[in-house]
Amino acid sequence: MRATVLHATRDIRLDDVDDPQLIEDGDAVVRVVAACICGSDLWPYRGLPEIDGPRRIGHEFVGIVEATGSAVQTVEPGDFVIAPFAFSDNTCALCQRGVHTSCVNGGYWGSEDRNGHFADGGQGELVRVPVADGTLVATPGQPDEALIPHLLTLSDVYPTGHHAAVSAGVTSGSTVAVVGDGAVGLSAVLAAKRLGAARVVAMSRHEDRQRIAREFGADEVVAERGKEGAARVREIYDGLGADQVLECVGTADSMKQAMLSTRPGGRVGYVGVPHGVQLNVPAMFGRNIGLAGGVAPARAYIEELLPGVLDGTVTPGLVFDQTSPLDKVADGYRAMDERTSIKTMLAL
Ligand SMILES: [Zn+2]
Repeated sequence: MRATVLHATRDIRLDDVDDPQLIEDGDAVVRVVAACICGSDLWPYRGLPEIDGPRRIGHEFVGIVEATGSAVQTVEPGDFVIAPFAFSDNTCALCQRGVHTSCVNGGYWGSEDRNGHFADGGQGELVRVPVADGTLVATPGQPDEALIPHLLTLSDVYPTGHHAAVSAGVTSGSTVAVVGDGAVGLSAVLAAKRLGAARVVAMSRHEDRQRIAREFGADEVVAERGKEGAARVREIYDGLGADQVLECVGTADSMKQAMLSTRPGGRVGYVGVPHGVQLNVPAMFGRNIGLAGGVAPARAYIEELLPGVLDGTVTPGLVFDQTSPLDKVADGYRAMDERTSIKTMLAL
């Protein structure tokens, strides 16, 4: 089969690799229908850190189950399935507590599972899925083609935005600000509105992203960044700041902006993969600012978020502003690296 391989910094190719096989009784093999490129894929693509050899990549995909091991019960060949960006058994003590990304039998695509068998990256034609019963969520019947981008966001960005909102404690009547206008930040706007936020401020300088934020329900857009941006958010919220701020970038500056935008007694929900983030704990102490979040247990949220996607109440797939065939995957990476694309979908 063909699969995406990162060979070195900014050297990404579609290579011929071995077809995955069922290995464990709990495995499935899924034929990928659509995948996508994640902002977090850009870190290794940019050489941060530099990789030491060719590496399979991609962790967001939806597809059709092609084969299942003898122990698999919840999906069968022919099912259309959503795969979250980490695999998990959905039964262990940590999965039961909703932390599927720490599953004792879990792991990440493009690396080995707990038994030392390779689980393929998502940006390829086929994927061996370990602990398939726990990992995959089947849709009722075959979805319309138009729904596929929206379903694909359930792999990562939509549940990740939701995790930021849940971790921060967004609830009915909340005042919210979102730092970051990438696909996750935009999804966080959508998630906060879905959870009943009274008012959401999206922080974005880019017109195309501002437009999607508005479509996702943002009430205000703040184009300023850093201290000026935070000052604008406080001004909007009666000089206090937002009840909840959703940090969806992961840099030192974005975390600082989030903290400064939060009202005393408020909370920051963070889902941006941290790079060089440092916390001013004494300042957090003095203003009673809480911080919660981390890598999103996407699997924990799929059942909750799926119905609204299926019935069209939400359209999270608007974050995809570009679609490439799989053999143009390198162009997709380039577009996202140069920020000419918010998020690129790979159609197979
Ligand atoms: Zn588990």
